[in-house]
Amino acid sequence: MKTIKNNKGRFAGIFYTCLLIIIIGASNMAFGQQPTHISPWAPVELGPLPPVASLTSGVWLKGDLHLHSDHSKDASNNPVAKIIAFSESVGFDYICITDHDNHVHGDVAHNTWVDPDFKSKSVLLLYGGEWTTTRGHGNVFSSKPYDHQRLYDVKDQRDIVVGEIKKQLDIHLSANHPSGKDHFGYSYDMVNSIEVWNSAVWPKNANAIMIWDDMLSSGRKLTGRGGSDSHHGVPDSPEKATKNTYQAKANYVGTPTTWVYAAARTTQAVVDALTNGRVCISANPYTPRVELYADIDQDGKMDMMMGDNVKANGKPVKFRVQLTGNTIRDSVYTVNVIKNGNPFNTFQANGKTPVVEFTDTPQQIGRTYYRVEVQGPVNPYPEIPGSMALSARMVGLSNPLYFNFDPNF
Ligand SMILES: [Zn+2]
Ligand SMILES: [Zn+2]
Repeated sequence: MKTIKNNKGRFAGIFYTCLLIIIIGASNMAFGQQPTHISPWAPVELGPLPPVASLTSGVWLKGDLHLHSDHSKDASNNPVAKIIAFSESVGFDYICITDHDNHVHGDVAHNTWVDPDFKSKSVLLLYGGEWTTTRGHGNVFSSKPYDHQRLYDVKDQRDIVVGEIKKQLDIHLSANHPSGKDHFGYSYDMVNSIEVWNSAVWPKNANAIMIWDDMLSSGRKLTGRGGSDSHHGVPDSPEKATKNTYQAKANYVGTPTTWVYAAARTTQAVVDALTNGRVCISANPYTPRVELYADIDQDGKMDMMMGDNVKANGKPVKFRVQLTGNTIRDSVYTVNVIKNGNPFNTFQANGKTPVVEFTDTPQQIGRTYYRVEVQGPVNPYPEIPGSMALSARMVGLSNPLYFNFDPNF
């Protein structure tokens, strides 16, 4: 009996408390007073950001970050030796052979990496593999061998587990072809870059660009990179041809080409540049590279380049887009500037003086980013003659210049 009585009392207490809350709430509404809410995530002025690295003491290196050799079961006529010999002959600076890890049960270390032909005198070879999972594909880039098997083993675990292993392995993880059949189904919070240009066929990347802009707009400083995802080489004899052999002359090493501004000619510097975003993508190795700079104090000297993140000072900034390399002299290039995911402005540049400058004022509180896409004639790539038409006049694109992005995001 005592217990029932006590419970009765408790229920009455709860009832009167609820009634009081409702009455106070109603009277607040009646006087037009909403309960005050302050978002802990609202933009505030950031503390000092790390200084921008040198704009002049590095080296531009070109390469391909998504390649399959015959260690992938869906590749053909494409041994490691053939990929490397081709890369050397065209003058690539680095490549990453990213074979499907599921074809060897996660053991890329005892397949691709121990291949006796996995060596080059002139091309930097990154260690990596394509993490091929039920929830999508991602590439790993590393300057040295790492325990890929551990990443493979957790592929069906929750993101919090995967993220922890990724951290322990100290690797660069990149989302591959994020939209489509094998879309990237993991959190973008644990990746360092995203493949925004997969294969020579540019038009199929529209959704990848959209995802990239969404991630950038939501405060994620995520590097955009390319990758040919090529699987098929030229057969040594006609009878070795397969139904996919036609791809060998349309999509191969360098379609597209990813350029990195590295502090040195080392595999570690390539991975670091990929992580920090000093990266642009061109349709092929002979097509000019899109460089994006900004002069923050308008003293005529550029202070930052794509990938760099600075504090906005509320004053106008001068931006410079520069096409470097083999611009086609009598041609016109269309430079589209994207600001915070939206079209900002369009400019024309000619092949003789391929530079565009414009001014804008990034907001002092809150994030802003600018990136550019350049359309125009794509230079011939004689070694892969079927590739140019597939790029649909997309010459190249830059990574963003960042203002007020929180480095501790
Ligand atoms: Zn894939
Ligand atoms: Zn692939």
